Amino acid sequence: MSDTIFHKIIRREIPADIVYEDEHLIAFRDIAPQAPVHVLFVPKTDVATLNDLKPAQAEVVGRLALAAAEYARQQGFAEDGYRIVMNCNGYGGQTVFQVHLHLLAGAPLGRFGT
Ligand code: 5GP
Repeated sequence: MSDTIFHKIIRREIPADIVYEDEHLIAFRDIAPQAPVHVLFVPKTDVATLNDLKPAQAEVVGRLALAAAEYARQQGFAEDGYRIVMNCNGYGGQTVFQVHLHLLAGAPLGRFGT
């Protein structure tokens, strides 16, 4: 298993505000939220970046998206809307090298910036 900060959260070596977990993934609040709701969905399968995702692993990312949509429904903001983001490598602003999906919600979000 890799040893990013997200793996430490999965292994309960550091604390996090976990909002969902199953055998495939974990979801917890971002430590530096960029919106009123900012939750990270992280697979338990090691995949460093989206570039490393193999076709046979499509379900790894699919599960993240489905879990985020289900969380939005459960929390009551699915109809208002939300944004999901996956950053990849330097230009994408990725800082933790275990693939993850950001769920941002709770207010109207601006258009994509630079
Ligand atoms: P990235 O920039 O790689 O797409 O996103 C990494 C995210 O992880 C950032 O939004 C950052 O705030 C968040 N993050 C970094 N370290 C921690 C941590 O220790 N706990 C939590 N909950 N989030 C973290």
